[in-house]
Amino acid sequence: MLKLSIMEDAMAATSQPISRSPAGQMPGLSPGLPLPDLYARVSRHVPAIEWPALAPDIEAILRLKREKNAVILAHNYQAPEIFHTVADIVGDSLALAREAVNVDADVIVLAGVHFMAETAKLLNPGKTVLIPDMGAGCSLADSITPEDVRGLRAKYPGVPIVTYVNTSAAVKAESDLCCTSGNAVAVVRSLNAPRVLMIPDEFLAQNVQAEVPEVEILTWAGHCEVHEQFTPADIRDVRESYPGVTVIAHPECPPEVVAESDFSGSTAMMMNFVTEKRPRQVVLVTECSMADNIAAENPDIEFIKPCNLCPHMKRMSLRNIRRALETMTHEVTVDPALADRARAAVERMLAVRAR
Ligand code: SF4
Repeated sequence: MLKLSIMEDAMAATSQPISRSPAGQMPGLSPGLPLPDLYARVSRHVPAIEWPALAPDIEAILRLKREKNAVILAHNYQAPEIFHTVADIVGDSLALAREAVNVDADVIVLAGVHFMAETAKLLNPGKTVLIPDMGAGCSLADSITPEDVRGLRAKYPGVPIVTYVNTSAAVKAESDLCCTSGNAVAVVRSLNAPRVLMIPDEFLAQNVQAEVPEVEILTWAGHCEVHEQFTPADIRDVRESYPGVTVIAHPECPPEVVAESDFSGSTAMMMNFVTEKRPRQVVLVTECSMADNIAAENPDIEFIKPCNLCPHMKRMSLRNIRRALETMTHEVTVDPALADRARAAVERMLAVRAR
């Protein structure tokens, strides 16, 4: 079984953001529809009958971005009509964090969840950072508080604390450095410590432990509500129904699910694996929009379910992105009293890549 879980040497190649030109030049496939070039990008996932209702919001967003000097950063779990039409930068958490540093527009709209917007603000404090829906949270971020982290530090003095980026800025501020699913192995190795506290994702920590057996990894009982639902039986069922199918699991899945898979990695690593290896049939054991977004550009690859929807990511829509730009809400800020410490934890993570 091919096991390439969250490999350090794959990190640089797989976590790059993708720059987009929303007014793309793909040949129009549906000249009778508005914005035919953009519709061509999403025609496999958006029925033609729905497009006339979406096109006015897309046109308005493209205009508002120019007027307000704004860019849209969209996570890989965003729906195709956001990912492929209005997003300027798309990627996983690591790529979006890196890209946030380089944004020179005045306004960043984060089509993702709240901790991503906070991270963008931390790294680019002079910009106005907007999130279209303040309710876009994350079960991992909600699983741990700053008080919890202080309690862990008191219980395990001297043990470095690596915190997944899927946390609040207040939790990051209590940490030594951050990690993402794309760089967790490299971050743990970079510490050269015999014991590491890796919080709050228990499954990510266990999957990293399998890659770094020389380090004792202590963890926390936080879970992603999307990935914890997958079971080894799901994988066996899909293999029985589709002999030869390639199975790719996100490392937020339980270790037993990752053990049944052919490859495990961040969403950016999944994307790279599919586009480079070009399996005939593949199942992406993660959020549903991942497969839709890759499928749009790889019509020759068959994407098999199962997948699960993230209710937080799905709070983003073209309508509320438009409203965010029209009204300049909801602005995401970070308490200045903790911003420097939280930023330092993220910057230490970003520095690991260069070593
Ligand atoms: S998919 Fe999981 S980790 Fe990602 S935002 Fe949703 S709940 Fe959080």
